[in-house]
Amino acid sequence: MKLNITCIPGDGIGPEIVREAKKVLDRTALKFGHEMIYTDILMGGASIDVHGVPLTDEAIQTAKNADAVLMGSIGGDTTTSPWYKLAPELRPEAGLLKIRKALNLFANLRPAVLYDELAAACPLKEEISKAGFDMLIMRELTGGLYFGERKTVTENGIRKAVDTLTYNEEEIRRIAVKGFDIARKRRKKVTSVDKANVLDSSRLWRAVVEEVAKNYPDVTLEHMLVDNCAMQLVKDPAQFDVILTENMFGDILSDEASMVTGSIGMLSSASLNDTKFGLYEPSHGSAPDIAGKNIANPIATVLSAAMMLRFTFDLDEEADAIESAVKQVLKEGFRTVDIMSEGCKKVSCSEMGDLLAQRIG
Ligand code: NAD
Repeated sequence: MKLNITCIPGDGIGPEIVREAKKVLDRTALKFGHEMIYTDILMGGASIDVHGVPLTDEAIQTAKNADAVLMGSIGGDTTTSPWYKLAPELRPEAGLLKIRKALNLFANLRPAVLYDELAAACPLKEEISKAGFDMLIMRELTGGLYFGERKTVTENGIRKAVDTLTYNEEEIRRIAVKGFDIARKRRKKVTSVDKANVLDSSRLWRAVVEEVAKNYPDVTLEHMLVDNCAMQLVKDPAQFDVILTENMFGDILSDEASMVTGSIGMLSSASLNDTKFGLYEPSHGSAPDIAGKNIANPIATVLSAAMMLRFTFDLDEEADAIESAVKQVLKEGFRTVDIMSEGCKKVSCSEMGDLLAQRIG
C-alpha cells in the first residue's frame, strides 16, 4: 500500500520527535511491504520565520492532497519568543486553528493508557494504578460552547456576559458514529458523557447517541453525567473504554485523563473529519526548554503514527506492531529522561527511536 503522508515537524522538539516517528514508520513499512511517501510542510514558528505567517495556503493544499498529516508540535517559549509579540492571528498557534478548520477536523481522540512499567508515575492510589487503564476520549471539536455566540453587555450599570451552547443533531450524529466505529476496534464499550439532568443540548446529545447505538448492537452503551465522570476517572479509570463527549466536557476530561497517566511524553492524539483523513500529533507541546538536546521522548509521536495506521489506513496489524514495540522497550527498561526511574537505562530521543524500530523486527 502507498501511504501519502504530510509531515509537520514544527518547532521546538517537533523535528526531533517526527524524525523518530518516521524511523519507526519506515521500519514498519519495510516489514509489512508498504511505501511511505512523506511531504514536509512548515507550520507555526518555522513558517513565520520563512513566510511571515504560521501556515500558508499552499501548505494547507499539500495537507489536503495527502491521506493523513503527522505533526510534531508548534510554538515557542510564550514569554521570550518574538513570535508572541505578533498579532494573535499571526502567532504559531493560529496555524493549528487554521489547519483544523481547513480540514474540518471535528473529532478529537486522546487515548490515556497506563503502562504497567510506568505505573509509579500514576498519581492515583496503588490499588487503582495496579489495575491499569486504557481509555480513549472522543471529544467533539468544532461545536458547543467554544463556538457559540457570545457577548458582554452592561445592563442597568451591571456587566453581563453570555456564552451559548448549541449543537444540532447532525453534529452529534457524526461524532457518535466515529465513537462507535472506534469502539468496535477496541473493547466495544462507549460511555457517553453529558449533563442531561440540566442541559437541553445534553438531552439532544443523549437522544441522538441512543439512535446511533441502534446500528451497533455489538457495542455496549452507557450514559454518565459529566460530574460523575470526573470522579470516576480518578476512582475507577479501568471501567472506561471509549468516552464520547462534547467539546468543553471533553476539553476538561481529556486533560484529567492525561494527568492520571502521569507521563506527558507518552500521550498521542488524533483529529479526524468525516472521511478517513486525520491529523495525528502528540498531546504535549513543543517543549522549548529541551529542544535541540536530543532528550525528548518520541513515544507520544510514535504512538500517534500508530493511530494514523489504524484509523486512516485500517492497518491494524501494523499499528499493533508499533504499540507492542513500545511495550517491549519499556519492559526492557529503556527510558527517556522524562519517564526515567531507578534501575532503568536512560536513552536519548534518537536511541529510543532506534530501539523502537528494531523491535518492529
Ligand atoms: P509542553 O507540553 O511543551 O511542555 C511541558 C513540560 O513537559 C516541559 O517541561 C517539557 O520539557 C515537558 N515535555 C513535553 N513533551 C515532552 C517530551 N516529548 N519529552 C520530554 N519532556 C516533554 O507545554 P508548554 O511548555 O506549556 O508549551 C510549550 C509550547 O508548546 C508553547 O508554545 C505552547 O503553545 C505549545 N503547544 C503546542 C501544542 C501543539 O502543537 N498542539 C500543544 C500544547 C502546547
